[in-house]
Amino acid sequence: MTTVPIYDAGQNRVVNVEKIEKSDAEWKKLLTKKQYEITTRKGTEAPGTCPFSEVHEPGIFQCVRCQTDLFRSSSKFESGTGWPSYYEPISPLNIVEHPDRSFGMVRTEVLCARCGSHLGHVFDDGPPTTGKRYCMNGFALKFVSEGELNQSTPLEVATLAGGCFWCVEAVFREVNGIEKVISGYTGGTTVNPTYQQVCTCETGHAEAVQVTFDAARISYREILEIFFSVHDPTTPNRQGPDTGTQYRSAIFYHNKQQKAIAEKLIGELDKAHLWQKPIVTQIAPLDKFYPAEEYHQEYFSRNLEQGYCQVVISPKVNKFRAHWAKRLKK
Ligand SMILES: [Zn+2]
Repeated sequence: MTTVPIYDAGQNRVVNVEKIEKSDAEWKKLLTKKQYEITTRKGTEAPGTCPFSEVHEPGIFQCVRCQTDLFRSSSKFESGTGWPSYYEPISPLNIVEHPDRSFGMVRTEVLCARCGSHLGHVFDDGPPTTGKRYCMNGFALKFVSEGELNQSTPLEVATLAGGCFWCVEAVFREVNGIEKVISGYTGGTTVNPTYQQVCTCETGHAEAVQVTFDAARISYREILEIFFSVHDPTTPNRQGPDTGTQYRSAIFYHNKQQKAIAEKLIGELDKAHLWQKPIVTQIAPLDKFYPAEEYHQEYFSRNLEQGYCQVVISPKVNKFRAHWAKRLKK
């Protein structure tokens, strides 16, 4: 199996995907006559016949053969040629350009990087800032509107306890694909607990964060990997200087799938002996999550000068930033 790195707009990251290799006969079965002639036999559609010439809403133009994201609607411009024209691809990874000397001309052919589909040609007479004109065949592309893209990205929620919630919250706020982070209390018995009550250790609650994430951009497992990288899961009821049951390490799962993913990951981490002691993280079903008092939300970013943040949170967050740099919001 040959893989190829492709930028995935839905996930906003580069993913390694399998290269698609099919015979002409196979493509012929899967495509309309026009799509086949253009993408597989390197044909050219008649100018002005582009099937989406009336589309003006924001979205993405994908490869009609393999759904690789190729151009953003924001890079489309009116070239007056009768062919859809773009001044840049969505990512240089997603296309291949190579010299084409057919028909006695010297041109640069543009192909899909994943399936090798012929898309069109690129010329040097485009608008600023690239100066390029990607002159494409509309029949080689498929338009997906922003609304359709968003529909396929359901939001999921993870609830995690890893010591002081200020710190855990600060870390997750920076990660791509995470839409919302709330600090709160869960896992105990007291209804509507206050911070003072939780600090007595009599409520049974843990300081926890509830992370709402876009499952198409970051997986639950990746959320857990980040979680394990920013706290010590081997110290019972303790994180650094903070001790008490409210500082226990816990994963409060929302469904069976999350439970299975958490158990599997903990098994793998224990086997890898990343810590000297075994992982004591509790895995428990989520009951009720109580959001913490307003002054606890976004505590780290609002209290950078505070002594506790300087000593405990800053080094953790900085270490996290260095390690997960490529996943962070810019
Ligand atoms: Zn393709």
